[in-house]
Amino acid sequence: MNPTQAAIERAVSLPPEKIHRLKGYGLRTSADGYLFRPTSVDEIRKVLEIARKSGRQVVLRGAGRSYGDANVGSECVIVDINRMNRVLSWDPQTGLIDCEAGVTIEGLWRTGLEDGYWPPVVSGTMYPTLGGALGMNIHGKNSFKVGTIGDQVVELEVLFPTGELKVLAKDDPLFYEVISSAGLLGIITRAKIQMKRIHSGNLKVLAVSCANWDEQIEIFNQYEHNSDYMVSWIDCFGKGKQNGRGQIHVGWYLDESAKYPPSLLAYNQDLPDSIMGVFPKSSVWMILKKFNNRPGMHFINYAKHQAGKMLGNGKEIEQSLVAFSFLLDYVPNWRNAYLPGGFIQYQSFVPREHAKDVFTQEIAMQQEAKLESFLGVFKLHKPDNFLFSHAVNGYSFALDFKVTDKNWPRIEKLCHRMNDVVLQAGGRFYFAKDSTLRPSDVRAYLGADTLERYRKLKAQYDPDGILTTDLARRLELV
Ligand SMILES: Cc1cc2nc3c(=O)[nH]c(=O)nc-3n(C[C@H](O)[C@H](O)[C@H](O)COP(=O)(O)OP(=O)(O)OC[C@H]3O[C@@H](n4cnc5c(N)ncnc54)[C@H](O)[C@@H]3O)c2cc1C
Repeated sequence: MNPTQAAIERAVSLPPEKIHRLKGYGLRTSADGYLFRPTSVDEIRKVLEIARKSGRQVVLRGAGRSYGDANVGSECVIVDINRMNRVLSWDPQTGLIDCEAGVTIEGLWRTGLEDGYWPPVVSGTMYPTLGGALGMNIHGKNSFKVGTIGDQVVELEVLFPTGELKVLAKDDPLFYEVISSAGLLGIITRAKIQMKRIHSGNLKVLAVSCANWDEQIEIFNQYEHNSDYMVSWIDCFGKGKQNGRGQIHVGWYLDESAKYPPSLLAYNQDLPDSIMGVFPKSSVWMILKKFNNRPGMHFINYAKHQAGKMLGNGKEIEQSLVAFSFLLDYVPNWRNAYLPGGFIQYQSFVPREHAKDVFTQEIAMQQEAKLESFLGVFKLHKPDNFLFSHAVNGYSFALDFKVTDKNWPRIEKLCHRMNDVVLQAGGRFYFAKDSTLRPSDVRAYLGADTLERYRKLKAQYDPDGILTTDLARRLELV
């Protein structure tokens, strides 16, 4: 094609009205790209062809729930798979569900619940697509027990940029390489998943208040082999002996198989429109915004810890699976409370033996920099065999940092200092939550062998380097 023909081709297939500004979930990162929303594998092929002819790279995007720059790409063609959202088959006898990659976690639970099935792994929000969830290989509050979502997949269909459409099962090494590869090796178009049998739409949930990391870890140890879910909230303002204070929630499936419990009906799970029947949820983020500063969050974390210690400690309640699993979905648009600068999430994964020491240091470093995370979340994991695995036999600690133009250089510096401590302890990171890793950090935790394996796969399945993201560019993965 001569240059004039190429220019005409580009103007026809990439008209300006296709240009959209897309953001990472934390609202800090954005990029302009040409947005396409295909409805079938054939349409994805056509979009890849358009990208090729116009000399553009391609970014895969699900529901845009990754916090940083993993789902955006400047000047790229964006393949948004949300419209490929059909459940292709559902078997209530076996709990096997076969879905297009745009089906969301919400779509999974709404399909299975009535027949007594729940998605085996869910994130803290129900909106991610299966494509995005498998691209990152998400974990849930049961990570210590069942591992990541990739472990629950029975079959995967992937379209590679070479045009090859492959169906992968667990006996194929490529299965473990495409899942977790952050949209850089192939386009997941369909997945078959084994859902989890349940006999109630409610959980029994126990709240335990902890004064520090020692108590946190003791409770996790106590319930590790005797619970279905565990997650802990950490107050990052707790100092000295109170470093690591917070509240753990331990959850168990209920067995109400003697009757058909109403909690298995989806509309009994739906989250309420208002909080305490008074505040419309749609306006809650505006109230939150008023407190979304260091003194406000210091106070809220302190009050939450005290309330947990005095009122909630040792209490058991019944809670719906939706309310327990998707707490953050209670407040629509809560991220707007972080505007105008947005926020980043920083999540590190540290082997058991070093977790207390590393996370104590992370909190002390935040306090020293006067940049305490407004929310800290602590979970237990088990390792897996996926290519860009974030999992460890140990714990993760997720932190939300409010970003402003002024504090950004200090936040970056803080995260880099924390990275060094995590790496020294043999820890890992998670691309879905990243905004501050450096290429050298990635080389250190993934290791030369994994990166070499990735580069060979990239050369074989995406030889022209079509698939990219701003995260991949930043971390020198493309
Ligand atoms: C409130 C909240 C709570 C969260 N809680 C958790 C949690 O508990 N555990 C956890 O693990 N994560 C959690 N996350 C992160 C989230 O689950 C992941 O970022 C997930 O990948 C988002 O899916 P998505 O559909 O939005 O994908 P996107 O963010 O749009 O994309 C994710 C990645 O997958 C790639 N991709 C997208 N579609 C495809 C495809 N079809 N084929 C191949 N690659 C593709 C993209 O290029 C990108 O690299 C949370 C996020 C939020 C906002």
